Amino acid sequence: MTDNTSIALQRIAPSQTTAMTDRATALKAEGRDIISLSVGEPDFATPPHVIAAAKAAMDAGDTKYTPVGGTAALKKAAALHFARDLGIEVPVSQVTISAGGKQAIFHALLATLDPGDEVLIPAPWWVSYPEIVRFAGAEVVKLPTDAAGGFRITAAQLEQAITPRTRWLLLNSPGNPTGATYPAEELQAIGEVLARHPRVLVMSDDIYAPIRYSGGAHATLAVEYPGIADRVLTVSGVSKSHAMTGFRIGVVAGPRWLIQAMEKLQSHSSGNPSSVSQAGAVAAFEGPQDFLLDWRERFRTRRDLVVGGINAIPGLSSPVPDGAFYCMVDAAPLMSRFGNDEALALQLLEHGVAIVPASAFGGADGFRISFAADDAQLAEAVRRIAAAVA
Ligand code: GLU
Repeated sequence: MTDNTSIALQRIAPSQTTAMTDRATALKAEGRDIISLSVGEPDFATPPHVIAAAKAAMDAGDTKYTPVGGTAALKKAAALHFARDLGIEVPVSQVTISAGGKQAIFHALLATLDPGDEVLIPAPWWVSYPEIVRFAGAEVVKLPTDAAGGFRITAAQLEQAITPRTRWLLLNSPGNPTGATYPAEELQAIGEVLARHPRVLVMSDDIYAPIRYSGGAHATLAVEYPGIADRVLTVSGVSKSHAMTGFRIGVVAGPRWLIQAMEKLQSHSSGNPSSVSQAGAVAAFEGPQDFLLDWRERFRTRRDLVVGGINAIPGLSSPVPDGAFYCMVDAAPLMSRFGNDEALALQLLEHGVAIVPASAFGGADGFRISFAADDAQLAEAVRRIAAAVA
């Protein structure tokens, strides 16, 4: 059949995290018993003070366009969040708001990439990073990592990969899909390399910063290596931390020229983030944060349940992730039986568990489990996975 879509669109594949989740939802609607561990979405209810703020905004008539880059109230609340939670002190002029972190990443890359530019992405990576880069007409340069190295790139590896065409490095800590979390000294070493290459911009995707298990302060590049802070774009939001995925609000802090460029593009794409969602996000950033401690402990219990369960299944293994709510399961010993990780994912779906194959993330021979589900479901999912591969 003729493909009537653009050459740019033909370069990319649909998001496999959302595709697998839609598939699990469709099977459930048909009456199948499916435990969906495919999407990265906290199962906790959105905090009541956030819901109340969103309702109050609607009642007050905040249902119209807002400024392109977000309301003054949310920019102020986001600046507070960057300073308090990430240690990044920026004026509101260096903050912008988008419809989810994903849209901010999309706009930042589209606003800066030209054909022939190279973008360095540590792999396993979040599904959408390489697709957005390809859509923009630039080249993906994969920086492989492995479980033995904590799924983190090294400064030496970065130095070797940089060329005169390198435009961006995409860093994600804690990372999706591995939970990899960069300590301060490794970010400082990475910053030292980047200081020698002034053309390279850095995306620091810190959306999972509140979900860390090892204790200690969150380390982020703009703080650890201030010498390059004027070319670091830090991405954050409320989706993961405040269980507000459906609100679609992402916040970024970065150099003024880049913020302006992103807003220029946003003025022609969505126009502005949802007014009601922005009111909810103000309450999220300015309201109580103490529930996060409880959520983090519940995630920790779930992580230990899933990782312990997986490591007890012959042929499967998973390191213990330091952050976020994903674990990356290695199933290489089973590949002689299943062929590849997509076939294994289908087998698991047949047994009632939806996960995402590692190949969707630029990995291989394994799968990602999102453990943002309740304990009983997770325990049952581990039982089904064991049965599926037995
Ligand atoms: N970021 C989450 C995930 O990786 C949500 C789905 C998506 O946008 O990819 O599952």
